[in-house]
Amino acid sequence: MLEIRLTANIGRGVFAKSAIPCGTLLVACEGWLAPSNALDDDWYAMQVGPDLWLCSSGDCLDECINHSCDPNAGFVTGEAVLYALRDIAAGDQIFWDYSTSLAEAGWSLECRCGSPRCRRVVRSWGELSVEERARLHPIALTFLRDPVYV
Ligand SMILES: [Zn+2]
Repeated sequence: MLEIRLTANIGRGVFAKSAIPCGTLLVACEGWLAPSNALDDDWYAMQVGPDLWLCSSGDCLDECINHSCDPNAGFVTGEAVLYALRDIAAGDQIFWDYSTSLAEAGWSLECRCGSPRCRRVVRSWGELSVEERARLHPIALTFLRDPVYV
């Protein structure tokens, strides 16, 4: 259903090999769990709890998925599992919004996703506006939906 390809401008990306209907489970993020103080610089790490990271050595599909401020994939159930948020055409690139999986203060990423909703600078969940958090709440990881981050 999905494949990794090299993009023109942002390194690797994940693309739909065939048309994917809205609501389809796209990928369950893989790896092992570790607390912040056990992280290794060589690992890919995705935050899944206040002090919990899903780690891997860089060979999982989910690590190649790029960010968009208007994503076609999201954490609909609150778990680290991406679902199609709309119908996706064959050949489309898959994106999730990185702010929906990050609570690390001070983290930022310059964005040129081209969406009318582009925030220009992608920040961690706690540094989004109230409006942005409300909009992204249905596709954010469970630990971010907790009022402590809102
Ligand atoms: Zn953007």
